[in-house]
Amino acid sequence: LFALGSIAAALLALHMSEPTFNIESLKGARVLVTGASTGIGEQIAYHLAKAGAQIVITARRSNVLEQVVQKCMAMGAQKAAYIPADMSVASDPEKVVKFAEEHLGGLDYLVLNHIGPSPFAMWDGDAEHTRWLMQVNFLSYLQMAWKAIPTLEQSKGSIIVVSSLLGKMCTPFVGPYTATKFALNGFFGTMQHELAMKKSNVTVSICILGLIDTDSAMEKVRGYTNMTAYPASEAAWQIIKAGVTRQPEAFYPWYTYYTSLIKDWFPSYRNMVIQALYNYEP
Ligand code: NDP
Repeated sequence: LFALGSIAAALLALHMSEPTFNIESLKGARVLVTGASTGIGEQIAYHLAKAGAQIVITARRSNVLEQVVQKCMAMGAQKAAYIPADMSVASDPEKVVKFAEEHLGGLDYLVLNHIGPSPFAMWDGDAEHTRWLMQVNFLSYLQMAWKAIPTLEQSKGSIIVVSSLLGKMCTPFVGPYTATKFALNGFFGTMQHELAMKKSNVTVSICILGLIDTDSAMEKVRGYTNMTAYPASEAAWQIIKAGVTRQPEAFYPWYTYYTSLIKDWFPSYRNMVIQALYNYEP
């Protein structure tokens, strides 16, 4: 008990010693946010707008992006523009970065957040969907990061990767999605090492999220689980904070951090708990 208490106290101390961040530093910051027509990406755009940043947002639907841009301007963004793009098209990721760099005259933050729709269901053998999702959720992130690094280098900039606890731990009904998130964590973890070894100015922050109350996530899990979903606006704030404070890894909500730490301690108990969290009647 004493040992467990000491570990808990140490973890709490670690958690409480998180860096604070100055919202003022975002005034005029040049930021590209992907997947910003809805959900967490949209909320990221609004926080940035209120801070007076210069923003380019992207997703597929122009009409929705246009509305988000208008709101961003009304909220105080120094600049806000959009470029429609489909990340399943191999040339679109680089096109988007080029547009943002030209429009903003450089780049301070690249926020990689978009995901393609994927069914919440037992895998049905659809390898083509998995291949498509790998391009949208994973390969396009690499393409954008690689294209942006030379510009980010000039501004001591940051890449922020929005990932998931499902990139660290396996749960049912999310095969293709979880594969893309494991791939992201692996690839950008390697990139963190390589940038540090090259003494690059650029940092990568990987954000590990739990269940967040976006429309798309809620629609998927409805009927399957009663897990608590946390607010998208707060998730967005934590993602921005991770980038500004250059944290290599950030967690939201709190349980994602502790789950990541202890998930491998008692594997059969963990698997029992996970399976009990979901309703499934064959
Ligand atoms: P949403 O489904 O709400 O938003 C997805 C965004 O991606 C939309 O803006 C969508 O716009 C865009 N998008 C979809 N397909 C494409 C495509 N082919 N090309 C370009 N853009 C596309 O997602 P969330 O806000 O819920 O999630 C945001 C991030 O947070 C993701 O990385 C997700 O993995 C992560 N996360 C979310 C959790 C949650 O519970 N919500 C939990 C853990 C992690 P459009 O349709 O206009 O293209």
